[in-house]
Amino acid sequence: MSTLDEYAAVAGEDVIDELRVLARHVGTRRLQNINSTAVGGGVAEILSRMVPLLRELGVGTTWDVIRGDEAFFAVTKAFHNALHGQRETLSDEMFDIYMENTRRNLEGIELNGDVVLVHDPQPAGLVSARHGAQRWIWRCHIDVSAPDRWVWGFLRPIVDRYDAAIFSMPSFAQVLSIPQFLVAPSIDPLAPKNRDLDDETIAKVLELYQIDPARPLLAQISRFDRLKDPLGVIAAYRMVRRRQDCQLVLAGGGASDDPEGMMVLQEVHEAAEGDPDIHVILLPPYSDTEINALVRGSTIVIQKSLKEGFGLTVAEALWKRKPVIAGAVGGIKIQVIDDLTGYLVHSPEGAAHRILQLLRDPQLRRVMGENGYEHVRRNFLLTRHIKDYLLMMLAVDHLGEHVVLLDA
Ligand code: UDP
Repeated sequence: MSTLDEYAAVAGEDVIDELRVLARHVGTRRLQNINSTAVGGGVAEILSRMVPLLRELGVGTTWDVIRGDEAFFAVTKAFHNALHGQRETLSDEMFDIYMENTRRNLEGIELNGDVVLVHDPQPAGLVSARHGAQRWIWRCHIDVSAPDRWVWGFLRPIVDRYDAAIFSMPSFAQVLSIPQFLVAPSIDPLAPKNRDLDDETIAKVLELYQIDPARPLLAQISRFDRLKDPLGVIAAYRMVRRRQDCQLVLAGGGASDDPEGMMVLQEVHEAAEGDPDIHVILLPPYSDTEINALVRGSTIVIQKSLKEGFGLTVAEALWKRKPVIAGAVGGIKIQVIDDLTGYLVHSPEGAAHRILQLLRDPQLRRVMGENGYEHVRRNFLLTRHIKDYLLMMLAVDHLGEHVVLLDA
């Protein structure tokens, strides 16, 4: 069975047929993706699954990763936070570092795609070298609904040199001189992190982390980052525990190379101290099966973010038929439909209230779980994402036209 047939079994034969038709229309146009990391984070996660599938559809697709030193990534991290609306100290020197790094990368990357899809701010400056009939699209994965004006003021003229921009949801769209597309991210149902797991594997992973499979389990799987509010999750758990038995897992990785991450992890350990039912797990990279099993072994999944571009972890949990209680921010709001696939909350108290409600109502959990699965199946699978990108590759040749007719 080809990979495409496997996707047909999950997403539907019609969905795959449609992809084949669109791929034929795209023909020999090559799609070149450029981002800033090959592993870690949502963008790399998506590209690593999407690129092979596009190739299987016959679309010439490549993926280049820009290089950068520590100073460059410190700058782009500050930009990232500032674009998310956080206060950051920014200087002219930082913009110089960004431009200098862009110049160095222009020497190393061959810009040979017919459509060049540039992900996020780090490689955005490469557009200065666009040539010929190439189409350039900037794909923004972050919540830029309330960006720091200075950083956006720097980035906007760069973005305006593209043919089009893509945002994940309407509220992220910006005032730009170029057309904007809305494309939500996606998860891959066949990836080790999401595919079905047998009960034995789930039981083994729970045992490994000394989690009692017979008692309710709450889980948040996230990098140890303040914007994911792990301390808020512990606060909610403690309120719940006064009235109802349960355990909590806070699992995440990527902290070792991030000084802030280590600090947050330390704070989480301190807040969890003395409670053997709080399991703080520092996951090594490539823990996909463990993450899959932890989510599948949970009763409720929490994602109490204070800011979130999309939150792949939410779609990953909904796909496993788990009700999700999550912060009412960013892209979470198009995944957690209040009262249908989970609950949106604004405080630890709100989270505790909804956790208690769901812990006491197995039927509601089941219904929400089914709703969540169906919501992801229809809207947030890799196949839908690929369809949007193929359509976009066709649309960039017809910008300004309201209707594009494809030949039969
Ligand atoms: N993830 C992981 N290991 C971890 C924590 C998270 O592989 O220790 C995965 C998680 O399952 C998801 C992605 O990393 O696929 C995180 O994407 P998300 O959009 O939720 O948040 P981000 O970390 O990009 O802010």
